[in-house]
Amino acid sequence: MPPEAARKPLGIFGGTFDPVHFGHLRLAEEAVDVLDLAGVRWIPAGRPALRDAPRAGPRQRLEMVRLAIAGNPRFELDPAEVETSEPSYTVPTLERLRRPDACGPEMPLALLVGFDAFARLEEWHRWERLFELAHLAVAHRPGHAIDPERLSPGLAAAFRRRLRREPGRLAAPAGSIVTFALTPLDISATRIRALLAAGASPRYLLPEAALAHIHQHRFYTET
Ligand code: ATP
Repeated sequence: MPPEAARKPLGIFGGTFDPVHFGHLRLAEEAVDVLDLAGVRWIPAGRPALRDAPRAGPRQRLEMVRLAIAGNPRFELDPAEVETSEPSYTVPTLERLRRPDACGPEMPLALLVGFDAFARLEEWHRWERLFELAHLAVAHRPGHAIDPERLSPGLAAAFRRRLRREPGRLAAPAGSIVTFALTPLDISATRIRALLAAGASPRYLLPEAALAHIHQHRFYTET
């Protein structure tokens, strides 16, 4: 068997993670099993382009992810988007990973996104280029049922054309869409921030280490 046939895809998981929570962690953990990934590289956005400025700073969000994934050999942390002052766009990040000194051109890459994020894909910088660089692995998220009827016509057409229906590991480097179900966890960073702002407890919605970091630095409680 040629070595490339044995090569497992690498999951790429970007997000604001303001803060990271168990919805994110289960998405990444279950993706490894369902999609037979080599692992997941977490890439917190420094300056996310499509939303209001995050409440916690880039390095603080990076640190919360570091604490949350510590000890899981399936996960690794990529600080590159946090270490630049450029806006965070996924296409340049994937182009960086495609360089020979990183993953190279052949390794299958699977960009992990929830359906709510996927539904806004056309707003992403050079979104069609994404499919030349990676597969899109779209996760179910409570309240965001995977339904092409809910997509804009251009994205729905791309979804139907690229949707991979046959089982088995992603072997090509890029270009397909796969969907996957995971344990439904109706958790959002918005809800966690709201609980903290109200003086209520978000405990058991996110890892204790991340919550301790939030309390230590008083994130999300001050207006
Ligand atoms: P916010 O509430 O601040 O918008 P969020 O909880 O949606 O944040 P993000 O960092 O924006 O978290 O999400 C990163 C990625 O994780 C996105 O692709 C999103 O769809 C996915 N995701 C977040 N929470 C869940 C969840 N509970 N179940 C499935 N996917 C999720």
